Formats: sequence, structure tokens, C-alpha cells
Amino acid sequence: MQMLKDAILEKGRAINQDVLLVDSFLNHQVDVGLMKAVGEAFAEHFSGKRFTRVVTIESSGIAPAAFTALSLNLPLVIMKKQTSRILTGDILQTTVRSFTKGTSYELTVKRDFLEPGDRVLLIDDFLASGEAAFGVLHLAQQAGATVDGIGIVIEKAFQSGHDRLTAEGLDVYSLARIKSMSERHIEFLD
Ligand code: 5GP
Repeated sequence: MQMLKDAILEKGRAINQDVLLVDSFLNHQVDVGLMKAVGEAFAEHFSGKRFTRVVTIESSGIAPAAFTALSLNLPLVIMKKQTSRILTGDILQTTVRSFTKGTSYELTVKRDFLEPGDRVLLIDDFLASGEAAFGVLHLAQQAGATVDGIGIVIEKAFQSGHDRLTAEGLDVYSLARIKSMSERHIEFLD
């Protein structure tokens, strides 16, 4: 998606070879015009599939996921990051290791919002090692739901997430795929 690649090149900043800051248009300040276009691009790509819910992880996935849900006319479910386990029957949880923070959190969703038979479209801001996506997959399995599509705004293709997810047979679509990056240069895959 050219508009997104232009924003990454103009406003993104790789702080090293692994971490890209995009806080001026995606993670902190949000370019809603760009996010609307992102949502429409996901909706177009996945238009042949029938989902029941769009799911994302708080907080940076919310903007692109909200516009995707709007375009597909589906409810949006935001999975929460809790610091500790909650032991009640109406909640599903799984532990996820955070790439950016080097810590773990409990990915949490109410059973009411992820139900048996749900067909989920997962939307997230970044794909790195795939831990966050696998967390959503585990919660979907616990709920008796399936993840039928994964839309990623920025994929760091030099990390393992894409290969790990596609090896599980998952349908992963990324709008910008970064081949490599450094403080001075960002290169995309075609
Ligand atoms: P994964 O679970 O695939 O290793 O990492 C995905 C999550 O980590 C995303 O939801 C995103 O919040 C965060 N993340 C991973 N890499 C980056 C990055 O380079 N920049 C930013 N801003 N967030 C990242």
C-alpha cells in the first residue's frame, strides 16, 4: 500500500535494526485518514470471506481495526493486556511475551465477546515474532472460535512471525512488508 509506505519512509524512525517507531501516525498520534484507507484495504482484501468479528489487541491495533470493522460492518473486539491472571469463569486468558517491552502480559477477553463458532479477522499494527497473534489464536481455540484471517499494518518480514503463522495454515495479509531496516534506511519487500 503506497500511501502507508510513504508515511513509513517520511515519518517512521528505525531506532535500530529491529524496532520501528511510527508514533507520529499510528502508535501515539493517529493519522485517521491513513487508518481509514488501511481499514478499506483490509476490507477489500478479505471481502471474499465471511467473518463474525474483527479482533485486535489494545492499544495500537485499535485505530486500523476500527476502520476495518466499519468497512466490513462487523463488531470490533479489543483484547486487553492484564498484568496478572484473573480467575473467573467468564474470562479467557493466555500469556503473551511482548516483543517491544521484553515482558509478558495476560491477553484477556470476556467469553461474551468471543463465542463458539465465531470466525475472527485479527487486525494488528505490527507483526514481529508472531507472539501476539498466537495469543489471539490460543484464545480463539479456547473459545471454540477460528481465526480465518490476519491483517497486519506493518510486517517486519525479517523476523519470524509471518513464516510461523503461515506454517500453521493461517491467511496473513500485510500492507507494508519491511525487508530490512537501519537508522538510515528502510527497505520494503515487493
Ligand atoms: P510480535 O508479537 O509479533 O512479536 O509483536 C507484535 C506486537 O509487538 C505488536 O502488537 C506491536 O504492538 C509490537 N511491536 C513489534 N515490533 C514493533 C516495532 O518495531 N515497533 C512498534 N512500535 N511496535 C512493535
